[in-house]
Amino acid sequence: MSAGSLLTGARKVAGRFEDALFPPTCGGCGKRGTWLCSRCQKQLQAMPATVCRCGVPHRSDGQCANTAGWPAGLIEMRAGFRFSGPIRQSIHYFKYGGEYARGPVLGAMLAEQVVDHWRLLPMPDLIVPIPLFSRRQRQRGYNQSEILALAVGETFDVAVTNSLTRQFDTPPQVGLDASSRRQNVDGVFKCNAPAGELEDLHVLLVDDVITTGSTMLSAARAVLDAGALEVSCLALARQLSRDR
Ligand SMILES: [Zn+2]
Ligand SMILES: [Zn+2]
Repeated sequence: MSAGSLLTGARKVAGRFEDALFPPTCGGCGKRGTWLCSRCQKQLQAMPATVCRCGVPHRSDGQCANTAGWPAGLIEMRAGFRFSGPIRQSIHYFKYGGEYARGPVLGAMLAEQVVDHWRLLPMPDLIVPIPLFSRRQRQRGYNQSEILALAVGETFDVAVTNSLTRQFDTPPQVGLDASSRRQNVDGVFKCNAPAGELEDLHVLLVDDVITTGSTMLSAARAVLDAGALEVSCLALARQLSRDR
């Protein structure tokens, strides 16, 4: 995948969401005319390519405490960046500030972070964004994970479908410990794809931020229960305990 085609993909998706209401401003420092200025780009903390498959940069042989409860078929949880600095601020504006036009650029940056890793792996057959609860999506007007998923899909030429539904609204995960987070999202996702549609596929789930991984885990179970063969998870950013 060349840098040129990455940019073409980002531009195509960007065109779909462009809005004169939101002229680009740097998510890090507020500079006008760019979504992320070159100075702030230098401050980004990319996740190392060699993270454990749980997504945390620690030494492991593929099994660790974080992967202990994973179902067979869940391959990895990976993120492009640490949830800190200009990425953290950009995500905040993107999610809570109505600035959806920020998403395609963030999604293209995410794709660029993982392109080398994915050269080594079989590409996913299908990308599924982590859904919002319907009422929340109506309030926000868009699902930030879907915008990221579309940018990643466009870059890698993989189809994106909304095959998951969030069955009930969950209280925000913020402030909950790991076990409460798990209970909070347990069974919250339901696969709405027609029977057999995910059968034997490698599905990539896309979300904006991974914290403990319990949301991704719950969504992965729903997709595997619906017949998917394998699931990988990808987020724009990963919140490590030292980022909190
Ligand atoms: Zn800046
Ligand atoms: Zn691990």
